[in-house]
Amino acid sequence: MDWSFPPEAEEFRTEVKAFINEHLTDEVISSTHEGTIHNWDFHKKIAERGWLGGAVPSELGGGGKSALEMAVMIEELQLAGAPIDGMGVAIVVASVVLELGNNHLKESIVPKLLSGETLVSFGYTEPDSGSDVAAAQTRAVKDGDEWVINGQKMWTTMAHIADYVLLLTRTNTEVPKHKGLTFFIVPLNTSGIEIQPVHTMGTERSNATFYDDVRIGDEWRIGDVDGGWEIMKAALKYERGIAGGQFPSPPLIDAFVDHAQTSKRPDGLTIIDDPVVRERLVRALIDVEVCRGFAYNTAFLASEGVMFGVEGSMTKLFASESYKKHSKWFIDMAGAEGLLYLGEDEAPVGGLLDEHFRHAPVTTIYGGTSEITRNLIAEGLLGLPRTR
Ligand SMILES: Cc1cc2nc3c(=O)[nH]c(=O)nc-3n(C[C@H](O)[C@H](O)[C@H](O)COP(=O)(O)OP(=O)(O)OC[C@H]3O[C@@H](n4cnc5c(N)ncnc54)[C@H](O)[C@@H]3O)c2cc1C
Repeated sequence: MDWSFPPEAEEFRTEVKAFINEHLTDEVISSTHEGTIHNWDFHKKIAERGWLGGAVPSELGGGGKSALEMAVMIEELQLAGAPIDGMGVAIVVASVVLELGNNHLKESIVPKLLSGETLVSFGYTEPDSGSDVAAAQTRAVKDGDEWVINGQKMWTTMAHIADYVLLLTRTNTEVPKHKGLTFFIVPLNTSGIEIQPVHTMGTERSNATFYDDVRIGDEWRIGDVDGGWEIMKAALKYERGIAGGQFPSPPLIDAFVDHAQTSKRPDGLTIIDDPVVRERLVRALIDVEVCRGFAYNTAFLASEGVMFGVEGSMTKLFASESYKKHSKWFIDMAGAEGLLYLGEDEAPVGGLLDEHFRHAPVTTIYGGTSEITRNLIAEGLLGLPRTR
């Protein structure tokens, strides 16, 4: 089997690696541990290279990077531990607006998103609807030329640094739940919106957002009234392009290997001398290689024009569950000091072991929980009956 990429994708990989060497400084990486996995300077530098616009399909007017180039870019950025949450959302929303949005949205939002000037957040989940996202209850009611929005969203990550929210609302209660939804892109400085922080155990900050008689014009609607499910499907389609490649945390593996080679345990052995430690490190590295296989498979399918589905779910499930498993191993292998926090004296690997141990579980929740993802694989790949 020939696993090599075409020369243009490898040339692009070299370019991305050089970019990472130059711009992914320790300060940028540290900023990812301060609550939001986004760094404005780094994000703008990616935009300046044209890589945000480059990721938008050419038929929509974007730079049309190939699926293989996208895979290479996401792989290198993820493996280096770069903050790319803002980048992912910007590419997805710009693509959806270009495909299905009106001229007002195309002109007022897309250029700012792709130049890295502004961010948008996803407002799908509510206190009573997460996995069952179509059960959203936030109401949008037409009043003359305007819409009046009332409700609450949960986990509106990045809303506190974004200018907009892609908001899922209910516009019809008389039809089956998927058929009564409408999307809006709502400017977050509109009167009636309140953003409250939600701090996670993994130090990541998300938000609860509240909408109290929020009035916006019809030009902020995206897609048809009651046609929101089409927008949701389009957003998922573009999200797959970004999420096709996911990796457990290799920077953590490398850092732990350094630590294990130099640190002594109370019994006088160097940590790496323990065969259990060596086996776990090898298993972790094998998991990274498996993720590479998943990523290349989805990129290959996309490059052949195949809209992959269950393959993306498999990648997400394997990468996030591996990350959770590895982060627990690292804590175990480091001994009691592994529990020391980021920045505490004597914390091995600068406290990153504890940081990742607390962060990894959320990756098995957002973007679809592991249970939901297993259901999708069971139904889509194994042909098992629907569970709901
Ligand atoms: C840190 C963080 C950031 C997030 N960021 C965003 C964001 O930016 N925008 C946004 O809109 N959302 C965001 N989310 C929300 C995320 O997508 C949801 O939390 C997730 O989809 C699960 O929904 P829920 O929390 O309501 O749990 P529920 O859907 O209530 O699920 C609870 C449990 O039941 C299980 N379960 C539910 N249904 C089934 C089923 N049919 N079969 C088997 N098991 C099932 C789930 O797997 C889970 O274990 C974020 C979440 C977190 C934790």
